[in-house]
Amino acid sequence: MLAVGSELTTGTTRDTNSGDLARELTALGVRVLRNVALPDDLAIATSAVAGGLADADLVVSTGGLGPTPDDLTREAIAAACGLEPRVDAGLLAGIEAMFTRRGVAMPEANTKQAWLINGALALPNAHGSAPGWWVERPDGQVIIALPGPPREMWPMWREHALPRLRSGRLGVERATHTLRLSGVGESALVALIGEDVLRASNPQVATYARADAVDVVVSAVADGRLSAQALVDETVSRLRTAVGEFIFADGDQTWADALGGRLDGRTLATVELGTAGQLQALLGGAPYLRFGELLADEDNVHHAGNDLGHYAERVREVGHADIGVGLLARQDKDTHVRIAIATADGTEEMSRVAFLAGDEGRRRAAIACAAALWSWLGNADVSQADIPTVRKA
Ligand code: ATP
Ligand code: MG
Repeated sequence: MLAVGSELTTGTTRDTNSGDLARELTALGVRVLRNVALPDDLAIATSAVAGGLADADLVVSTGGLGPTPDDLTREAIAAACGLEPRVDAGLLAGIEAMFTRRGVAMPEANTKQAWLINGALALPNAHGSAPGWWVERPDGQVIIALPGPPREMWPMWREHALPRLRSGRLGVERATHTLRLSGVGESALVALIGEDVLRASNPQVATYARADAVDVVVSAVADGRLSAQALVDETVSRLRTAVGEFIFADGDQTWADALGGRLDGRTLATVELGTAGQLQALLGGAPYLRFGELLADEDNVHHAGNDLGHYAERVREVGHADIGVGLLARQDKDTHVRIAIATADGTEEMSRVAFLAGDEGRRRAAIACAAALWSWLGNADVSQADIPTVRKA
């Protein structure tokens, strides 16, 4: 994966293309050897293309297809292949027509967007003037050059490059599934999952500590006996037995999604103190959140400590919601979290400790609140016996 453009190597723009494409390719069973960002420098770009061809079956580039002299991906690919670019009459007519439709003459500089080399096909660009390249080398290697702007790159990838790859070269079937866990650390997970499982190569089980969860990602390729999906399903179901109590979501679901599932149509109103709005940041936009209040004042935080339950009840009323949630965060070295959950049946309070203070502590306080509400919703449907109850209305 090559990302071309000095704005990437200077840090002016983040290279999101390589990672996004690498994720798609990985899901298709392609092993990505490297993601490299390159400056607008012909010698460096040429040697990167040549290096890619030396090691890999497929080289994918994004960027550097524009009309200006510093856009030199085509030149670099041609040089790495030892080929001379030529102007394709059909492409040139297409680009000229595009400018004519806009009522201007095509600048001479755009001529190079009509270049091709032997073995290259142009990939249409529905959102810009620069066509991409699909280059097949005599030995079967493929080079794909895509535009840099994501809004041009994605449609070209989805509609033109990917179907071509699918129809020929991508053989390996691969499947993945992500389990999202809360309330358990990465190191504790090792013991629960088992080191042998974490060291196995197919299916592969990997843990990732994210800001809002510990993700356990299971991926597999078909082994000749079982399909990739069957291998993943088998491991996922064993993991559900081993660590099921910690799983709050699957795939790319968020806390807002997970809560939505358990709220099951019920609505929520929240009031938060000392969190700088992190609970709203976490749940904002969720259709079940009817009302959200943020109280920042130190006096409020002090006052509410004794009476968070009333805050939750009031916000439930004001927001005309089924459930009112109060969240209070107080910080020293860590963040001490109090949570109140008010329903028509009564009000319950609980406490948690979120590690760290500052912004990170406030974010974790919101996640602790979401997690507490999530397990409360799970238990409330069965029994409320084992939930610490401070006060019942
Ligand atoms: P254009 O014809 O628009 O010039 P191009 O293929 O030459 O297309 P670049 O000039 O390399 O593309 O990049 C144009 C813009 O696209 C960049 O300024 C940046 O905003 C975005 N872009 C380029 N490469 C990437 C990347 N790897 N990740 C994310 N955005 C990118
Ligand atoms: Mg450009």
